[in-house]
Amino acid sequence: MSGFAMMFFQDPSLLQFQQRMEDEGHMNNLKTLFHVRSIPKDTWMREVIDEVHPEEIMPLFDDFFRPLQRGKHLEQYQVLDGRYIVAIDGSQYFTSENISCPGCLIKEGKKGSTRYSHQIVQAALMNPGMRQVVPLGPEEVRNTDGEKKQDCEINAGKRLLARIRKSHPKLSFIIVADGLYSKQPTIEEAVALHMDYVLVAKPDDHEVLTEWVNSLRALKEVTRLTVKEKDRTHIYEWVNDVPLNGNKKTATVNFFEYWIEDREKITYHNSWVTNLIVDGGNIGELVRIGRCRWKIENEVFNTLKNQGYHIEHNYGHGSMHLSFNFFLLNLLAFFMHQIFELTHAPYQQLRKKFGSKRNLWDHMRVFLSAFIFPDWEAYFQKLLTPLRSP
Ligand SMILES: [Zn+2]
Repeated sequence: MSGFAMMFFQDPSLLQFQQRMEDEGHMNNLKTLFHVRSIPKDTWMREVIDEVHPEEIMPLFDDFFRPLQRGKHLEQYQVLDGRYIVAIDGSQYFTSENISCPGCLIKEGKKGSTRYSHQIVQAALMNPGMRQVVPLGPEEVRNTDGEKKQDCEINAGKRLLARIRKSHPKLSFIIVADGLYSKQPTIEEAVALHMDYVLVAKPDDHEVLTEWVNSLRALKEVTRLTVKEKDRTHIYEWVNDVPLNGNKKTATVNFFEYWIEDREKITYHNSWVTNLIVDGGNIGELVRIGRCRWKIENEVFNTLKNQGYHIEHNYGHGSMHLSFNFFLLNLLAFFMHQIFELTHAPYQQLRKKFGSKRNLWDHMRVFLSAFIFPDWEAYFQKLLTPLRSP
C-alpha cells in the first residue's frame, strides 16, 4: 500500500513526509487513507516489493474492474450489440545499459554493448467517444528461465488474450490492434477464445490478401461506399471471405479499407481485417472501432510516460520483480484515477475547480503533506472548500 500510495500521488518523497507527520503528530495520511500500519523505510519497501510475485498483484485489476461493471459504468463503452473494444499494444517502459535483472530482455549492441529492457503488452477497454480508458492487467514480455529463445511481443499478446478471457469469461470483446497482430497466430487465438477482432492489415505485410482484394476489385466484387461531407469525402471499401495468407490452413477474414479525402487530397488511409461480417450498416462503426487503436498509444502509454505519470522513471530495479511491480502499481494508480474520473462526484468537481489535472494534483500533494485527514471524504471536502485567509 505504501508503494501504491507513492504512485497514486506520484510523489517519491511521500513516505518521508508522512513519517515526519507521524514523528511530530503521531498520525499520518498513509495510515488514515491507505491503512498502512507502519511506514516502511524506502530501501525496505523496495526489498519487499521486489520479492512479490507479479501474479499476486494482477488480480487487483479485476478487483478494480468489477465494481465499475456492477455499477453499470461500463455500459457507455459498449459498441455493436454489447461488445467491448479492447485495444492491445506493446510498449517498453525501461531500458538501460547498466542496470539489469534476470527478467530483463537483452539485446547485444554493435560495439559489444548490451542493452537491457522491460517490455509489456498492454490491454485497455475503450470507446471512440470516451476520454477515459479502463486498463486491464498487462502481460510482460519476459525472459523466462529454461527458454533459450527470448520471449516476443506476439507470444505475450497471445498470453494476454488468454488472461483477459480468464478474467472475463462472459464479456464480448473486439480486439483492436496494429499490423503486428493481424497474423495467423493471434487471429487463431482470438477465435479460439471467442473474441472478435478488428486488426490493421497493411498491403506490405499481406501480399496474398492484397492480391485477392485487388482481383476481386477488378471483378467489381468489392463494395464501395462514398459519403460526402462539406469539404470531406469518406470512402469505404469492403469484401468478405478472403484468405489472410497463402498458408494451407489460412484463416478466412473480412477486409475493409477507408480513406478520407479533403479537398481532393487523401488525409487519412488505413485498412483492416475482421471476423465480423462487413456490410453497409456497420462499416462506419467498424472504421471507428479500428481507428480507436491510437487511443492506447495516446491515452495510455503517452499519459503514463509524459502526462503526470513517470512510468519510465527508475524507482528502483531490484533483482527479482521490482521493476515490473512498480510498473503495475503505477498502472493501478492510473486505473484508480480513471475510476475517479468516471464515478467520483467530488473528484469531478475538483477537476472543474482546478482546471488542469497538473494543477489539481499539485494541490492534492500539498494538502497531503500539510494536513492530516481522517478519511478520503474529509480530504476531498477540504480540497473543495474555498481557502480562507488565516
Ligand atoms: Zn530487469
